[in-house]
Amino acid sequence: MNPEEAADLLLRDLSSSSAGLSSIEAQRRLSQYGPNALRRRRGVRWPVELARQFTHPLALLLWLAAALLVIVGSLVVAAAVVLIIVLNAAFAFIQEVHAERAVEALAEYIPQRAKVLRDGEPREVDAAELVPGDIAIIEEGDRIAADIRLLAGAIEADMSTLTGESVPTLRSASILDVDVPVLRAHDLVFSGTNCTGGEARGVVFATGMSTELGRIAALSERVKQEPSPLERQVRRVAWLIAAVSVALALAFIPVATFGVHLSLINSLVFAAGLLAGMVPEGLLPVITLALAVAVRALASRGALVKRLSAVETLGSTDVICTDKTGTLTENRMRPIAVWTASGVHDLEADSGTTAAGELLPTLARIASACNNARLTPGEEPSGDPTEVAVLLAARALGAETDAAHREGKRRWQFHFDPELKLMSTIDRDGDRLVVHTKGAPEALLPHCTTLLGPQGRPVPLDAAHHDLITAQVNAFATNGLRVLALAERPLPAGIRPPHRRADAEHELCFVGLIAMLDPPRPEVAEAVARCRTAGIRVIVITGDHPLTAAAIARRVGISGDSPTTVSGEQLDRLTEPELARLLSSEPDIIFARASPETKLRIADALRGQGHVVAMTGDGVNDAPALRRADIGVAMGRTGTDVAREASTMVLTDDNFASIVVAVRAGRRIYDNVRKFIIYIFAHATPEVTPFLVFALGGGLVPLPLTILQLLAFDVGSETAPALALSRDPAEPGLMHRPPRPRSEGVIRGPMLVRAWLFLGVMVSALQMAGYFYVLSSAGWHPGAPVGEGTPLHHAYRQATTMTFLGMIAGQIGTAFAVRTQRASLRSVGVLSNRYLLWGIAAELFLAAVFVYAPPFQSLLGTAALPVGDLLLLVPYPFVVWGADEARRYLVRRRTARHG
Ligand code: ATP
Repeated sequence: MNPEEAADLLLRDLSSSSAGLSSIEAQRRLSQYGPNALRRRRGVRWPVELARQFTHPLALLLWLAAALLVIVGSLVVAAAVVLIIVLNAAFAFIQEVHAERAVEALAEYIPQRAKVLRDGEPREVDAAELVPGDIAIIEEGDRIAADIRLLAGAIEADMSTLTGESVPTLRSASILDVDVPVLRAHDLVFSGTNCTGGEARGVVFATGMSTELGRIAALSERVKQEPSPLERQVRRVAWLIAAVSVALALAFIPVATFGVHLSLINSLVFAAGLLAGMVPEGLLPVITLALAVAVRALASRGALVKRLSAVETLGSTDVICTDKTGTLTENRMRPIAVWTASGVHDLEADSGTTAAGELLPTLARIASACNNARLTPGEEPSGDPTEVAVLLAARALGAETDAAHREGKRRWQFHFDPELKLMSTIDRDGDRLVVHTKGAPEALLPHCTTLLGPQGRPVPLDAAHHDLITAQVNAFATNGLRVLALAERPLPAGIRPPHRRADAEHELCFVGLIAMLDPPRPEVAEAVARCRTAGIRVIVITGDHPLTAAAIARRVGISGDSPTTVSGEQLDRLTEPELARLLSSEPDIIFARASPETKLRIADALRGQGHVVAMTGDGVNDAPALRRADIGVAMGRTGTDVAREASTMVLTDDNFASIVVAVRAGRRIYDNVRKFIIYIFAHATPEVTPFLVFALGGGLVPLPLTILQLLAFDVGSETAPALALSRDPAEPGLMHRPPRPRSEGVIRGPMLVRAWLFLGVMVSALQMAGYFYVLSSAGWHPGAPVGEGTPLHHAYRQATTMTFLGMIAGQIGTAFAVRTQRASLRSVGVLSNRYLLWGIAAELFLAAVFVYAPPFQSLLGTAALPVGDLLLLVPYPFVVWGADEARRYLVRRRTARHG
């Protein structure tokens, strides 16, 4: 059986034909076979995930403390510690599920598309709507959406998702394999693999879970997310603190036993409780949540981030390498003018034909033939925007632009190759065949030997013509226009169309130029200005002409009046150290006529210098550079599936401004993470101080805070405000400071000083002042007994309650203080974070329950406080916050003075 017979048989089996299915039949099959999507096996793994939350190292430390407490018989405290473990595990679990959902949901923002024949016409449909029997059209850069048997054409397929082999393999309709494993059959391509080159048609024979990918998906599970550098750093610090807590707790035992003559058991209880209070177990889940919130917010603003950790990388991005077309510009091209040997013809003026008249029909014929765009009346033009503009020019010049007419004449096509910057077709014109070529002028000229002269006859192309053409190209390009050159060559009668590119694209007759305008996006200039103030360098790397690139870059403010432009050719001659030197010595640089390899080299050079690089790209060949950059940015609308897959971020609106929005969000989140790290760390000092006072008091001062009160404080005040801080608005000046160096850790010395020694010490002082005030107003003097049954016992309970509430009041002040690092709180709005207000309300409510509900009174040893004492607490938050406000003011003044 030959390949054609096999294909016919398959088509018959699938009740289809090479013209594809009708929409009605496709609809019917969709309800029969179900959507072409993979079902995830969800839910099964959650017990494992939950169990993990109970067994991570910090939780184990807490379990150890609980076990110790059980052994020494302090069951109530042990129960409280277990409660902390459970609450935290539940919280962390919810955050993780949340985060995972946020990332998974992103997939829905970029539904995969597929090209099929429906009702005999090529049409783009949602990949989920593919059904067996559909005729699919596969082109370079497509992700293949179903299992397909090729019927015509040949492609290169990257099958690494299925086979693990990353070398692309040839798949062709004309090779029929029998008796080989399916994955090796040369005429089959599979869902989930990518087409890296060529073009083919094929019939869909399996969709959804029946595909090979579906079979694998049914077996495998979710991909594990790597912990981000941020999480790793915080985990390290959490460990450090855990170690310090253990050391402190251990040191407390001898001091309490010998210094204050506490029983060993009591000292152990204290030590274990202290440990449980100080371990920052809530830190990691809050970070996960903060990143997930950012990912979700970004998605709604046009930037889909595929990994949580990318958010923090975005925050430290200091170089953005961007394409021009579509990213800086609107990608809506409009033909403005054409040029032929008899002069320029303005397409926008209503002047009708000019002297160039005779040559224009030839130019228009090439423009229409060497083209894949479609102009359907009443619909938006479809296809590559450059080609749409070329086709519009052809129509304006009176050529036939109907797609069916064009396809009827086409015998062969050489796709646009971004390396060669050329595209050619071979078409029938009357009884002869003609090669039609279009491309970048400098790329096309070397393949031309003649010029279509003003008389409509080819004349030899000499140096003067070269100069004339180049001058015209430069004149167009300087105005920011994109210029395409067109040429043709009639083939001698009776020969077969050449199937090798080099055989077609030579001895061409240069016919003319088409100049088109792709205006810059209006919002880009402002985004570029923001990059400037934020210390982010923007480098344009474009396939377009140097002058066009320079004109656009100037217009949006990326470069000054005389940027250094480096062409692909010049770049090829540079060695790596020379390129590195060029990049660091020339601040204002544009790479034009760049090939995808250029991007890779530039990404490498910049990363080698320690920069954090975001790089945009849209073609198959851009994939390596997208992977190599710190943040690969692909286009959601115009890019290929392959580029989208290789990237870390996809812009749903293809807009440069969205990259800047994402960088800002990354910075903001990083700041917010720092805020709640300070907030959570600031707990430590007031938590330890009461025990320190007790231990150093040598038995004269009764314990100012019971262990259970400490744990209650931990539960009540840690999580809600920290969560709220992760949503805090950005501090002014966020985009007015240089990017964070790659090497800078999330936790820095000054932050710890501020948390432990400034905010923490202040809260401790207030808390102890309240304690001693209540105690001494009841007539207590150092050494007076306060135990159960003594006259001072009730006052002692009230005093510990005062310590407890003092800590809470102080921490409220801390929560407001940490909201800004340098600016005054007024500049961000005192009440601008309503989550924080709710968090504090919840905290106050909980505190009231702990102090006033009788069961908690007896459990925690609290007692109701008179109104007078409560009023004393009111200034606490203001003192803490106010002091920090003053400190920040001084810092600002000092830096202002020192420049
Ligand atoms: P950017 O990299 O900024 O998106 P670009 O779109 O100009 O720039 P390419 O698509 O690689 O980059 O195009 C490079 C050059 O190739 C263009 O400047 C143009 O001269 C030529 N070109 C682009 N599209 C076609 C096409 N369909 N047919 C022929 N030549 C083309």
